Amino acid sequence: MSLATAEIRLDERVTKFVKERRKLLIGGQWVDAASGATFPVYNPATGEVIAHAAEGDKQDIDRAVQAARRAFESGGWPRLTPSERGRLVWKLGDLILEHLEELAQLESLDNGKPIGVARAADVPLAADLFHYMAGWATKIEGNTIPLSVPYAPGVKFHAYTLREPVGVVGQIIPWNFPLLMAAWKLGPALATGCTVVLKPAEETPLSALRLGELIQEAGFPDGVVNIITGFGETAGAALAAHPGIDKVAFTGSTEVGKLILQAATNDLKKVSLELGGKSPNVVLRDADLDLAISGTASAIFFNHGQCCCAGSRLFVHESIFDELVGGVADAAKKIKVGPGLDPNTQMGPMVSEIQFNRVCGYLESGLSEGANAVAGGKRLGGEGYFVEPTVLVDTKPDMKVIQEEIFGPVVAAIPFKELDDDLVRAANDTVYGLAAGVWTKDIGKAHSLAGMLKAGTVWINCYNIFDAALPFGGYKQSGWGREMGHDVLDLYTQKKAVCMAL
Ligand code: NDP
Repeated sequence: MSLATAEIRLDERVTKFVKERRKLLIGGQWVDAASGATFPVYNPATGEVIAHAAEGDKQDIDRAVQAARRAFESGGWPRLTPSERGRLVWKLGDLILEHLEELAQLESLDNGKPIGVARAADVPLAADLFHYMAGWATKIEGNTIPLSVPYAPGVKFHAYTLREPVGVVGQIIPWNFPLLMAAWKLGPALATGCTVVLKPAEETPLSALRLGELIQEAGFPDGVVNIITGFGETAGAALAAHPGIDKVAFTGSTEVGKLILQAATNDLKKVSLELGGKSPNVVLRDADLDLAISGTASAIFFNHGQCCCAGSRLFVHESIFDELVGGVADAAKKIKVGPGLDPNTQMGPMVSEIQFNRVCGYLESGLSEGANAVAGGKRLGGEGYFVEPTVLVDTKPDMKVIQEEIFGPVVAAIPFKELDDDLVRAANDTVYGLAAGVWTKDIGKAHSLAGMLKAGTVWINCYNIFDAALPFGGYKQSGWGREMGHDVLDLYTQKKAVCMAL
């Protein structure tokens, strides 16, 4: 397997954007970190430094929280009607589409993902999320409630509920879909009238910073969205613990999710968490084999396996195991791996050296414990953070590669005999419960299995289907709360009951 190479020419706006030292967005101003510190941003295809961003820390988080508090309580934002707020959110979606190519290039450069994927998925999905959420701004409604208070005979009451924004929200996002994760978080917060301090991942701050400029261009009042780049242990931890924050929304590892929760216990902030996964993808004996081969391959190899919902445990009926796994292995071997900015690339590098080493460490661990690779199994090339798309067989249930989230292009294929309790138990046998896949032509089996899998999303004869209207989130240690759809509005609003004696 060799690396693809011919990269596209970068848009001048992208070249200029990365050349300038990137600052923090606080209260409508682009400012340096109070400490003056910056950190390098790398191109994962080469390991070279492409930009420098301000390294925000506790002091900057404090300034940003104060700006977000001011914007929440006074000024233009709370005075906007829901319709005006919705129009701003819609306009942001439009601006993202207007700048689609520029944002896609930034994303590909910073994260390493194929430019074609950023153009077709990341950027349009981010725009669509804002467009979808814009419609909700005018539909955040309460109820009227008839009362029957037994200890107040004869008294009539008028009771109703209001849904109010939860307040100032701290949002901490990861590097696997940098722009899209910012959209998932910002869209509902803005539609419901909250204000935000956003901390992008240190690996991929660029698209969120460009989004900050578009937020200003859309006309959001100063301080409604503040963006602090920096490190998790400093800026992220300070945000999660800040007493001026009413709610923290986090996407990332389960390990850090638990730290966020601990930090939030001081003042019992609201917390929502979208965490890791080790999702089972189950292929029954009657599945359409061609569809299942391409679908289960893309379930793991999309975004280089750096997806919280990646179908990383592939359960296949023993009667079709060799054919299906052979097909997935062939698909893995054909994937064009290379720099994201090469239009021929189908899979880019791991996002960082740390992530690359983590994935290679899992490969070594699995192979040394007796697993075999029928495709891939090692790093690719000598520079950048490329890993071969890998299919493992002969694994055991207690191996690390079966129990832990690898977050790389590595799938373990596991044969099963019957669609029975043992299969369901094995599929559910991890601490995670984010997503699952089922491949079959039997609709009865498809839906009964969907009911038995402990996962926040079950895809049947498809995988990785995301839509702004479809709620997404985890069972078990995959998280708390649901992103997208109308469910997410519950995370950003609180209900007030008003009761009046007539
Ligand atoms: P993290 O969970 O460390 O990072 C996610 C976000 O949390 C980043 O913005 C990070 O900041 C921030 N963060 C880190 N530590 C703290 C802290 N103590 N307090 C507050 N915020 C913090 O993920 P990693 O990048 O380390 O990836 C590790 C593993 O996590 C992956 O291998 C994968 O298994 C999983 N993961 C899951 C994701 C998902 O979508 N559910 C996404 C990304 C990773 P910074 O990066 O700036 O340090």
